[in-house]
Amino acid sequence: MSALPELTDRDSLAPSRDARTADRSHLLHRVLGFAVFQVAFYFAYRYGMAFSQASASPFWFPDSVLLCTLLLVPPRWWALYVLSVLPIRLFSDVAPEVPLWFLMGTFLIDSTRAVLTALALRHFMKNPLRLDTLRDFAVYCLFAVLLIPAVGALGGATARHTLGHDFWTTWEQWFLGDALAHLVVTPAILYWIVGAFRARTWRPVISRDQAIEVTLLSVGLVVTSYIAANTGGGSVDLLQTRFYAPVPFMFWAAIRFGMLGASGAVVVTAVMRLHAVLHGESSLAQLSPAETAFALQNFLLLRAGPLYLVAVLVEQRRNAERLLRESEERFRTIADTTPALIWFCDRNRVFFNQSWLQFTGRTLEQEVRSRGAESVHPDDQSRVRSAYSGSLAYEQVEMEFRLRRYDGEYRYMLNKSVPRYAPNGEFLGCIGSVVDITDRKRAEEVDRALAHAQRLAAMGELTALIAHEVRQPLSAILLNADTARALLQKEAPPLDQLREIIDDIRRDDLLAEETIRRLRAFLRDQEPLREPLDINAAVTDVLRLVSSDASRRHMRMRVELEPGLPPVVGDRTQLQQVLLNLVINAMDAQADTPQGARHITVRTKPNGNEDIEVIVQDRGCGISPETLPRLFLPFFTTSQSGIGLGLSIARSVVVAHGGKIWAENNVDGGATFHFTIPQHRSVG
Ligand code: ADP
Repeated sequence: MSALPELTDRDSLAPSRDARTADRSHLLHRVLGFAVFQVAFYFAYRYGMAFSQASASPFWFPDSVLLCTLLLVPPRWWALYVLSVLPIRLFSDVAPEVPLWFLMGTFLIDSTRAVLTALALRHFMKNPLRLDTLRDFAVYCLFAVLLIPAVGALGGATARHTLGHDFWTTWEQWFLGDALAHLVVTPAILYWIVGAFRARTWRPVISRDQAIEVTLLSVGLVVTSYIAANTGGGSVDLLQTRFYAPVPFMFWAAIRFGMLGASGAVVVTAVMRLHAVLHGESSLAQLSPAETAFALQNFLLLRAGPLYLVAVLVEQRRNAERLLRESEERFRTIADTTPALIWFCDRNRVFFNQSWLQFTGRTLEQEVRSRGAESVHPDDQSRVRSAYSGSLAYEQVEMEFRLRRYDGEYRYMLNKSVPRYAPNGEFLGCIGSVVDITDRKRAEEVDRALAHAQRLAAMGELTALIAHEVRQPLSAILLNADTARALLQKEAPPLDQLREIIDDIRRDDLLAEETIRRLRAFLRDQEPLREPLDINAAVTDVLRLVSSDASRRHMRMRVELEPGLPPVVGDRTQLQQVLLNLVINAMDAQADTPQGARHITVRTKPNGNEDIEVIVQDRGCGISPETLPRLFLPFFTTSQSGIGLGLSIARSVVVAHGGKIWAENNVDGGATFHFTIPQHRSVG
């Protein structure tokens, strides 16, 4: 059985009611759009043809309408739109005297040009409906304003030439008419009509201040455009100041409102000028239609070009700012939702995320004002500052510092930061994340402190132990020295015996020295050595060290060392201390054992394949059942003079070597201690 719900035929075949409604509204949009296009084209065509047929129109408006439409609708609809204007061109009453072949010819030229321009713009521009970047503006100018109109004008000029007009004059008029349509009218349609249509609002969202500004700007523009177009008598001297009166307003519009402002301002001036020309009120009125068109074209070309350039730069900067703002916003949203404390800085700004602010209990303003410094422990501030000053800021930084929490407690924080670079390699600042490591640090401290306490305790214990052991060789030395002195009293001192005694003294002295050296090494917390060593030799050394003490305490020592054992790996001094401790404990445990029954057996043997086992057996008091589980715990002792660290240290040493230590009672009395040490395995 499938877990998915089964689809009925109705579900799968019949569109849902929502889908049908959407389809219907889509169709309605299409039909409406088509109707709007027809109406717009009709008026554009009539307006374009309003100029005498003796000359070309100063703007060929129909081009703008057609191009904008082709940019908006999918290419599969293009043929319909293009063909649909043919009746308008053939049957509108604007030019009854124009021959049919001419109308058909210009229809073909205009349509081809519109399709080619639309294809080029769709292909080369990032967004063919907007002139947002210098690159897109350049592509637009190249194809829509220069290249395609220039080539298309060749066809137009040929057609007109057939009607008796001068070829190159017509080419120039035709070209300027088409070029200016795309420079003046198309951007206005794209920004004012298509823009609003796509934003689905005809009501611009502007503030009160902006509304006042737009009103002032519009009034200024209309008044100055009127003065420029309608006054000045018959002069067409373009050097006259009044021609330039609208210019400041046009640039105002471009700088403050980008392409929307610029295209609007250009249209206002162009329409007013055109209106004046068409109604004979213009200073250009006494010129021939061709001269009028040319003067108009120059007038607009000179203004629109630079104005759009400024507007595009404004748009580009705005877009860059918007993108930066958006990316910063995105970053902030992410930063604010992570539990880590995050900060970033550039040359003039710093930012701290929500987690940081919650941690410090301060506001963003407070943190920004001091660049976070007020929350950092005063003793750490200079360290933090120097880590981020000069060339160091260009590197990754990993550092610890203390940060004051909202409750006033300074917490240890680990800060990791990386430098940020712009795509052009410019250093932008740093971004860092900070985590609270106080608990981890405290745990470590309790561990660095425990170890220290253990070592201190061990030091006391071991000092006593070793002092005790050093006493053995020292008393041996003294005894030997006394014997030598007594022998020297003899008339013929036995030189061989004396030589032996001196050798003994020397050996005992070296032993004492070695013991002290090892003690110092241990207390300096040197890393335990890991070297191959002969366990039997190490055991023999220890037994020799305790031999005099053992005989003084009437211990019978038995040594059973398995010959030919492989070397173990470890620290000789530490392992000898383990054994020394076990042997001394064994002697202590037999304090109450009758003198003749005091035995200590020390044995070595292989344990399985990997380890060597060392065994110390005594005939002492044994270990009571209550004692057994606590034997290796620190500070556990049953002895009056002991401190209970010997076995716990022995266990840490053995465990650190990868071995085990344990104890058991013998069946026939006394206890046995065992420990194992891994064999040395030669590499390769
Ligand atoms: P300390 O010798 O200072 O007491 P240790 O850690 O070396 O510290 O020994 C802890 C305790 O373990 C001793 O006090 C003793 O009770 C018990 N113990 C150690 N070795 C033996 C042994 N061979 N026989 C019986 N008890 C022992």
